[in-house]
Amino acid sequence: MTKYLLSIVESCTSRKFVVAISGVFFSIAHTIFQFIPGKPRCPVCGALLICVYRPVLSKKLIDEWNLTADWEVLFNRRDGEICISCGGSIRGRQMGLALVNWINRARGADFQNAQAAFLDKSVRMLRIAEINSCGGIHKILNRLPYVSYSEYEPYDQRIRHEDLLGLSYGDESFDIALHSDTLEHIPDIDRALSEIWRVLKPGGAMIFSIPIVRDGRPTLVRAKLENRGIKQFYPPSYHGGSYQTTSQYLVCYEFGEDFMDLVKSHGFKVELLEYPENPAAVTFTAIKPSL
Ligand SMILES: [Zn+2]
Repeated sequence: MTKYLLSIVESCTSRKFVVAISGVFFSIAHTIFQFIPGKPRCPVCGALLICVYRPVLSKKLIDEWNLTADWEVLFNRRDGEICISCGGSIRGRQMGLALVNWINRARGADFQNAQAAFLDKSVRMLRIAEINSCGGIHKILNRLPYVSYSEYEPYDQRIRHEDLLGLSYGDESFDIALHSDTLEHIPDIDRALSEIWRVLKPGGAMIFSIPIVRDGRPTLVRAKLENRGIKQFYPPSYHGGSYQTTSQYLVCYEFGEDFMDLVKSHGFKVELLEYPENPAAVTFTAIKPSL
């Protein structure tokens, strides 16, 4: 009997169950809050922005990352402050805003949120590589015909596998490449940036977030791909994972102030989208210039 009850509890807390329940909750909340006037509004779902908050960083990760108390709060808010209508964290909402900003500029449009932008027929034609699930915008992108969604270690075999060390896509395939807190896990960042450059069309953009501490510290390389495999320079540190992936990922880079120069050195024109009073919530738009 106990075994039977435990199996029920286990199934009730499974990944698919949590995804299903949270999906129902967000649908109900969005149905209500999208029609309530007022500001601010979520740049992803367009609903009146009401957030819930829970801290997300573990003590172990904070110690390994050598975060001060101030930056611990900034990162907890970045990932823990959730729009109750779409589930988008600050990080996810800023990804959505950066995407809408790029679309508005490229199309001469004035869309107020990602949900509205992707109702437009021409916007729906954009070729987008969602390299990993990018928060609240994932649900919108997942319904579109020309979005290729992938994960490095998908929990579901129906989800495409892609590795930034060698993407399977052809040259100049996409208008936009999206990834969220992924580059720090790639053991050769130069190869990853070269791969994204290769698959972007001229004029296309890589829109992304990374965990970056902007307190003057340089990038710390914790692990790197070398001839014989991954060389570890510091004890292994892990974070990440989501309901779309299977595991926590090894941290290869702890990014610092020199990160922008690294991206620019690959030819990208880089723009920063800041979030008020939270430098940890910066989002990057790296544009591959037109020929
Ligand atoms: Zn939202």
